[in-house]
Amino acid sequence: MNESEINILKSRLIPIPQEIEFNDGQEYLLQNGCKVHLVVAVSDGVAEKVSSLFKSYWNVDISLALDESGVPGQMKDDAYQLAVTDGLLAIKAKGLSGVMNACKTLRQLAEVQRGTEKVAGYFIVPCVIKDEPAVEFRGIHLCIFPETKLWDIEKQIRLAAYHKFNYAVIESWGVFPFESHPEFGWQDRKLNRSELKRLIHLGRELGITLIPQFNLLGHATASRSVTGKHAILDVNPALQPLFEPDGWTWCISNPNVRRILTDLVLELHDFYEQPPFFHIGCDEADNIGTCRDCRCHELKSLVRDHICWFYGLFKQRGARVIMWHDMLIERGDKRWDGYTACGLPEHKLNELWKELPKEIIIADWQYGYKAGEDEAVTLWPTTEFFQNAGFNVMVCPWLNVEGIKSLGKLAARKELLGMLETTWHISHDNKHAIIYGVAPNAAWNPTAELPKWLSLRLAVALHNRQVGWDMGIKEYEKTGWNMEQVDPGHHPHQLV
Ligand SMILES: [Zn+2]
Repeated sequence: MNESEINILKSRLIPIPQEIEFNDGQEYLLQNGCKVHLVVAVSDGVAEKVSSLFKSYWNVDISLALDESGVPGQMKDDAYQLAVTDGLLAIKAKGLSGVMNACKTLRQLAEVQRGTEKVAGYFIVPCVIKDEPAVEFRGIHLCIFPETKLWDIEKQIRLAAYHKFNYAVIESWGVFPFESHPEFGWQDRKLNRSELKRLIHLGRELGITLIPQFNLLGHATASRSVTGKHAILDVNPALQPLFEPDGWTWCISNPNVRRILTDLVLELHDFYEQPPFFHIGCDEADNIGTCRDCRCHELKSLVRDHICWFYGLFKQRGARVIMWHDMLIERGDKRWDGYTACGLPEHKLNELWKELPKEIIIADWQYGYKAGEDEAVTLWPTTEFFQNAGFNVMVCPWLNVEGIKSLGKLAARKELLGMLETTWHISHDNKHAIIYGVAPNAAWNPTAELPKWLSLRLAVALHNRQVGWDMGIKEYEKTGWNMEQVDPGHHPHQLV
């Protein structure tokens, strides 16, 4: 096989495996009775999963041999090895998650038989793959706005899982149907509980754990600030004492706030079936501590007690909290020039990090890429700062391609907990292939050379199509990554 052929095949894979070698010779035919040899250390559920995936991907019944010996002890949970020859397909992994990753790679590699009108079968080119993720936590951050369609969230969860993200943080913007306090969200824009529950279970089935987020400091409006909306106060002015006078942040000196937020976060965590993480937000808490009562307190101790309360609440449940980093460092501090820092000098929160439990995970969101940065010099000083302070840190890029790549490399090099790719209100349009093409590669295999942009985008398009097949999509608006193809805008539902 020549280099050009190898590049064609590699460009179909997102993320690109760490080691891959294609061989000449007869292809492995995906047909009834095809032989699959599975070597795992923990066999629970593995044989059933592989059989069902081969059935759903290629409609074949496999002949499976299960072997519970010979798995290298140092293999990571998500790692896998593949050896494909004309007569046998061998998968080696520790257990279910590695095996599922192997199957995802195989689906991307499999090509439909040529020369017929309709699908007559699929084949896989002989190859040997040894693959493992660069970091443990590979997350996608998804927002459910009142305008968001849940089928679109489902597509993104499926695509993220297909590209080997293993976590999806779900931030619902005033649309979660709280039972404990139904007034905390839009009255006429509540999500369907059973539909959301289905997505949580679907995620588990696909190998991606859904993590709830609730903003416990700023962003208390549960609405984008540029719209001036407030999901609670706009229709329920009686609840004003729970917020600072301008409504943007919670009034954290009010004991009722802690009581109600405790109910809300526990209800959310239970609804998501108690995943090992909970995201408490805490970014951009501008105008924090501005009411009469908060002004009389030292803000640092108020925020510390507030965060520590929720940290303790989740610790009791065996879960770790994730918080955005930006209020813990000060804007204007020379060390963070060109990087995101939202604490203000009057907040006096720049020493707060010393008093926070180090089990809190810092989500360091940096959406730019400072010109002149390269791998040879110290980069991303905020990340380094929090890591040196003793926190587990996740890098959180968004749309800047160079930034995503650089942060992926940083996460691997510094052995950070991982990456949380954000999407906010922009995950469609031309940006879709950045989020679902560039970011999964940066999180899994950041040093791999990406294929040409067009190839990458077409691979993302094919994978969207496969996800659509899985969902049984037939409607024009639900295909691809935008509802409309002329002036499609950022949202799948946006009609410009
Ligand atoms: Zn207050």
